[in-house]
Amino acid sequence: MGENKPNIRQLSLEELTAFFTAKGEKSFRAKQVYEWLWKKNARNFDEMTNLSKDLRAFLGDNFSIPHIEIKQFQRSTDGTIKNAVTLIDSLIVESVLIPTEKRTTACVSSQVGCSLDCKFCATALLKNMRNLTPDEIVDQVIEADLQSKKYYHHPLSNIVFMGMGEPLLNFENVMTAIDKITSDKALGMAARRITISTSGIPKRIKEMADRNLKIGLAVSLHSAIDEIRTQIMPVNKRQGGLKELLKALQYWHQKTKSRITFEYLVFKGINDDDKSIKALVDFAKKVPSKVNLIEYNPIDDSDTFQQADKKVIEKYQKMLDNAGIVSTIRNSRGSDIDAACGQLANKLEK
Ligand code: SAH
Repeated sequence: MGENKPNIRQLSLEELTAFFTAKGEKSFRAKQVYEWLWKKNARNFDEMTNLSKDLRAFLGDNFSIPHIEIKQFQRSTDGTIKNAVTLIDSLIVESVLIPTEKRTTACVSSQVGCSLDCKFCATALLKNMRNLTPDEIVDQVIEADLQSKKYYHHPLSNIVFMGMGEPLLNFENVMTAIDKITSDKALGMAARRITISTSGIPKRIKEMADRNLKIGLAVSLHSAIDEIRTQIMPVNKRQGGLKELLKALQYWHQKTKSRITFEYLVFKGINDDDKSIKALVDFAKKVPSKVNLIEYNPIDDSDTFQQADKKVIEKYQKMLDNAGIVSTIRNSRGSDIDAACGQLANKLEK
């Protein structure tokens, strides 16, 4: 960290190959280095033992291998782990590791802070804002895998882009990170174990559909009535409202044949009425989907947002069920350490 030499992990395999051939080295050297960086997780050039000493020294003179660092580690009573990680320029993001009986899911951040301003989300309150680089995203996955092996005794199985930031507003970097996570030459994880969660950026949803990545798509819907959705998620209006979102989701389904997951919070006095329920059912019927009714995690002491009564959530579930739409009620994990959805706001920064 803190070195000014170019970060070698920001080069693609092609760029690395071009670099080596320009230096008169064999192109397979690039593959070897790439493997050290992305498969074997080397943290310095001296570890690259199948390269000559001279070549290692040469690389060390020209490049650095920065890595994110875990600055703070917290473990919840339910086993959930939250990491505050220091990025290459010392800004901080959070990532979470959620164990269940059969799998471990890493919840990774894609941006420092977030530009969206969703009224119920703690990340919106942060002032610092920048996109994460692909290697900063992949590093969170690498650390999560190491932690999963250490604390839960099996490798990481799933990845969700549900940490800080809007992944589709850091589109190219997130796509490059996913390529590294899934490529055989790098981490080699299955694409279907990755889910992107988005507030809904129609243009990017369509672009992603065209790339046919085989990843899952989750959309933070929270209301299927434009007026209400815009009130709690101003991005709704900026992105053309529910109409444009629906078109993009139908396009996604047409291309990928996969079902969309709607994430949905039910707030007292905001979307806990019959009209809201009916709107959700009608919306969800228009594209193959299922609904995750998420528990609200309070982000401050104000009472603007309160979790709706249990019987309202049950009513939601019943109406969805009657319409043939699968829904689940998702309980929060890790809320005792502020690791739950919407609570990521790096307290260390404040
Ligand atoms: N920007 C992306 C991913 C980050 S948010 C998105 O909007 O999907 C991850 C999920 O947590 C989203 O579904 C979001 O709506 C939800 N969330 C935000 N604040 C929350 C809170 N206080 N309680 C519960 N879920 C929350």
